[in-house]
Amino acid sequence: MGLTMSESAKGTPRRLRKSGRDAISVTLIFLLLFAPLANAGRTKLKPGWNLFSPQQDVELGRKASQEAERQLPLLNDRRVDSYLNSLGRRLADRAPGERYPYQFKGVNDATINAFALPGGFLYVHRGAIEAADNEAQLAGVMGHEIGHVALRHGTNQATKAYAWQLPLAAFGGIVGSDSLGGVIAQLAAGIGVNSVLLRYSREAERQADLIGTQILYDNNYDPRAMAQFFEKIEAESKGGRAPQWLSDHPNPENRMQSVLKEVNNLGGLPSNYKTDSAEFREIKRYLQSMPPPPKGGSQQRRSRQGQSSKPPRPSDRYQSFRSDSVELRYPDNWRVYERNSTLTIAPDGGIVGGENGQNLLAYGVIVSLFEPRQDRHGRITLEYATDLLIDQLRESNPRMQVRRDHESVRVGGQPALSTLLENDSPVSGRENVWLATVLRAEGLVYFACVVPEGDYNEYRRTFEKLLDSVRFPAS
Ligand SMILES: [Zn+2]
Repeated sequence: MGLTMSESAKGTPRRLRKSGRDAISVTLIFLLLFAPLANAGRTKLKPGWNLFSPQQDVELGRKASQEAERQLPLLNDRRVDSYLNSLGRRLADRAPGERYPYQFKGVNDATINAFALPGGFLYVHRGAIEAADNEAQLAGVMGHEIGHVALRHGTNQATKAYAWQLPLAAFGGIVGSDSLGGVIAQLAAGIGVNSVLLRYSREAERQADLIGTQILYDNNYDPRAMAQFFEKIEAESKGGRAPQWLSDHPNPENRMQSVLKEVNNLGGLPSNYKTDSAEFREIKRYLQSMPPPPKGGSQQRRSRQGQSSKPPRPSDRYQSFRSDSVELRYPDNWRVYERNSTLTIAPDGGIVGGENGQNLLAYGVIVSLFEPRQDRHGRITLEYATDLLIDQLRESNPRMQVRRDHESVRVGGQPALSTLLENDSPVSGRENVWLATVLRAEGLVYFACVVPEGDYNEYRRTFEKLLDSVRFPAS
């Protein structure tokens, strides 16, 4: 541009020179207009499908945080919490979308973890602060969590998991407060927190990474620090057990590359970016000087799932469950979780976390549908279908064995088979799985009643009563 100007200025009349000066000012205006948009390449992200309102995110988050705090060993340290809050608020101020009433609390747990409930209730394990090399890394973890809150990943997942329970929503786009209240109560209980609100997809992870990176950038931190910290966690967990962090936040592909790409979109590394602060070093030293936390992470992990001890005895009072395909009665201190046409009916503490982060039933009943293929005569019989089901169960439970073979019984007024299986219990020793199967037009309906071997006698009568109460509504 400069070259063109000097050429036209050299041998041209005044008029043209004037227009040349106009060109300069046009260029300047152009530059000024574009200067604030230097980071126009920023990836813009919006929350996905959600039947909850942002206010309901806060309501749900508050309830779930109360539930979580009954079990979490909070640090309750004013110094640590006020540091986390001042850092966290600064970061959250740069988050896109809805303004949530963020609060940050330290947890006296040595495992490297942090998690956020909808509406901005954020918890940082002491282990994460102690493992971070500098403030930018800690800010990266917190920025990532803030990304989950801002993009409403928890209630987006809950929407997908529970949409069918909210029939109004499917049509009107409005969730009745009654049905929503029920869902919020279920979600706020331990199992919902762990299996729905905090178990993110890789896509959610990718998005939270981008927001975390943007937040670091906007706060003038080294925007690579978040991804560096995650790589460090991963490297340290190689060979050992993956920390809870990795099962809740599955690694998106090419994490570092996509972070670097976003840094590039933002216009490169901020000039004079900072990585550390005296406050961070002080808090880290302070935590390191404290006595170690009471117990390892696995204990926390269990208690986060509401599995701190054996579930309470099954109540003698029963309540009814009714759907289009089945009706039954179950103890009034159990809950029903319904997902993809599978019912899980269990006491609090009856569902525990497995090694790979999945939920396992230790106490309770699963009601589900198995679609068997035909036998070699082109028929489906109750016995054949039941054998196929048991084969399939044994594929995912290799240590499962048949303890007592099929016996003819009746369930819901229909011919049924009762089979007693045994398997490894996710809580201790072996478990009994009492399987009842009924052949229906839609497939093989099965009831799997699960309890550790030692507690079988205590639960047997409950299982009998539940199976006795089964009715299949006429369709
Ligand atoms: Zn995450």
